[in-house]
Amino acid sequence: MMDYETVIIGGGPVGLMLASELALAGVKTCVLERLEQPMPYSKALTLHPRTLELFEMRGVLERFASRGKKTSSGHFSMLDTRLDFSSLDTSCPYTLLLPQTETEQLLEERARSLGAEVLRGAEALTVTQNEEGVQTIFKDREGSVRTLSSLFAVGADGAGSVVRKQAGIAFPGTDSTVTAALGDVKLLSPPPSGVLSLCTKEGGVMIVPLSPDRYRVVLISPYRTQTPKDAPVTEEELKTDLIRMCGTDFGLNEPTWMSRFGNASRQAKQYRSGRLFLAGDAAHIHFPAGGQGLNVGLQDAMNLGWKLAATVGGSAPSWLLDSYHAERHRVAEGLLRNTEAQTRLMDFTKAGLHLRSMVSDMLAFPDVNRFVAGQISAIDVGYEADQNMPPHRLNGKRLPDVELRLPDGSMERLYNCLHNGAYVLLSLKQGADNDHIPFNGLHTVCASLAEPREEWRDVHTVLVRPDGHAAWAVDAAGPDAAEVIQSGIRRWLPIASRV
Ligand SMILES: Cc1cc2nc3c(=O)[nH]c(=O)nc-3n(C[C@H](O)[C@H](O)[C@H](O)COP(=O)(O)OP(=O)(O)OC[C@H]3O[C@@H](n4cnc5c(N)ncnc54)[C@H](O)[C@@H]3O)c2cc1C
Repeated sequence: MMDYETVIIGGGPVGLMLASELALAGVKTCVLERLEQPMPYSKALTLHPRTLELFEMRGVLERFASRGKKTSSGHFSMLDTRLDFSSLDTSCPYTLLLPQTETEQLLEERARSLGAEVLRGAEALTVTQNEEGVQTIFKDREGSVRTLSSLFAVGADGAGSVVRKQAGIAFPGTDSTVTAALGDVKLLSPPPSGVLSLCTKEGGVMIVPLSPDRYRVVLISPYRTQTPKDAPVTEEELKTDLIRMCGTDFGLNEPTWMSRFGNASRQAKQYRSGRLFLAGDAAHIHFPAGGQGLNVGLQDAMNLGWKLAATVGGSAPSWLLDSYHAERHRVAEGLLRNTEAQTRLMDFTKAGLHLRSMVSDMLAFPDVNRFVAGQISAIDVGYEADQNMPPHRLNGKRLPDVELRLPDGSMERLYNCLHNGAYVLLSLKQGADNDHIPFNGLHTVCASLAEPREEWRDVHTVLVRPDGHAAWAVDAAGPDAAEVIQSGIRRWLPIASRV
C-alpha cells in the first residue's frame, strides 16, 4: 500500500498547480516544499493569456483576475513596439499583472481545498524508483528523516531539481553570459505613467508598478553584464545605473528585494524517466524575457495533471503518459529559442540599436505582431495531431472558448464544460445522426456554435481533452463519422463504453 498516488517535490507555482489538477481528479497527492513559509518576494509578475484560459477552464479565473491588473500589451525584448494581446483570438486578450507570491497563494489554497496535502519545511533528499513505485526520502520541519512511497513522483523543484539529478536526466544547454539586476523599491518621483521601458547605448531599463507606491526596476547595464549572478545588488548600483540611463534615479529608496538574474538556458533531455516526471523550471530555464517561465510551467502542469490522473485511475491508454514529454518538450524548445533571440536583441551597441529599431518597426505590422504575441502569450500552442486518427485540421489544436447554443436554446461556453477536468465529447451534429452518444464515463455536450468559425465549419464531433485541446475531430461530410468517433473514443478512453 503506497502512502500517496503522487508525490510532488517542490511547492512553487508549478507544483501547486499540478497538485490542484491531481486533487481535482481525486488523486491522493502530497507536495513536499522545503520552505517553511512562502517566499515574501515575487520573481514573476505576469500571467499570460493561455494561462488565464486554463484558469477559466477550471472556473477560477476570477479569483486571480480580481487581484491583478489587466493590461492588453506585452513586450518582446523591451522593443518600443509593444505586443498587442487584444488582437488575439482568445477570451482572455490581456496579460494579468499579478505578483508570483499571490499566484502561489491562490494555487496553494486551491490545492489544499481540493484535498492535496502540502507539507512545508519538507526537503526531499533522495527520490528513487523501482517497478512498483517511488520512494522519496525527505527531512521534515523537525529535522527527522522520513520516507514516502507513491506510484509516481514529479520534480517541480526548480532549476536545481533534485528529482532531475536523481533520475539521471541530462540538462544540456548554455551557461549564463549576461546578467541583469532588479530591485523592488519605492520611487518618490516615478515616471509620469508609472511605467517605463527604455533602451539606449547606456543599457535597458524597465519600470513596472507593484502597488501604489512601489515599483519593480529592472536594469540591463552593458557595463555589468559580466557581473556574477550571486554578486549582491546594491541600492547605489540601481541609482547609478538609473541616473546614467534616464538622467534621474526617480527618488529610488527602501528596496525590499534586490537580485541578479542571468541567461543560462537549459532544457531537460527527457521530461519522464519511468515513474518520475519533471515540470516547470526543473525541466527548462532561460532568461526571463517576456515573462514566460512561470506561465509555461503552469501549462506543463496542466498537460501532465489529467494524464497522470487517468493513469492512476486506470482509464488511460498506455501511450498517454509518454505524450507529456512529446508535447511539452517541443513547446519549451520554442520558449528557449524566443528567449535566446530576445537576449541577443538586448544589444546596446550602435549596430545593436539599429537592429532593435528595425525589428521594432517590423512588429508594427499587425500580422507580425500577432505572430510574436501568439508565441509569448502561448495562444499559438498546438500539439501534433494523433497519427492514429484520420487527419483533421483541429486535431491537437488549442480550442478557444467558443460559445455554444444548447438544444434548449440556452448558451454555454466551452470552457465552462471543462471545470471538473474531464474530457468532453462535443457533438455539433444536429438532428438524428448523433446515435454515437452517450458513452459511459464521458460527458457529452450536444450543441451548435453560436458564431460560425471557419476552422469549425462542417465539424460533426470533437473530443475535447481536459486541457482544452482537441484530441481529434471529425467532419459531418467525412465517411463513417460514427465509426471514427467510436474508434477515437476507444483509443483515448479505453474504458468508456456505449451505454
Ligand atoms: C527576475 C525574474 C522575473 C521573472 N518574471 C517572470 C514573469 O513575469 N512571468 C513568468 O511566467 N515567469 C517569470 N519568471 C520565471 C518564473 O519565476 C519561474 O519560471 C517560476 O518560478 C518557476 O516555477 P517552478 O514552480 O517551476 O519553480 P520554482 O518557483 O523555483 O519553485 C520550486 C520550489 O521547489 C522547492 N524545492 C526545491 N528543491 C526542493 C527539495 N529538494 N525539496 C522540497 N522542495 C524543494 C523550492 O523551495 C521552490 O519553492 C521570472 C524569473 C525571474 C528570475
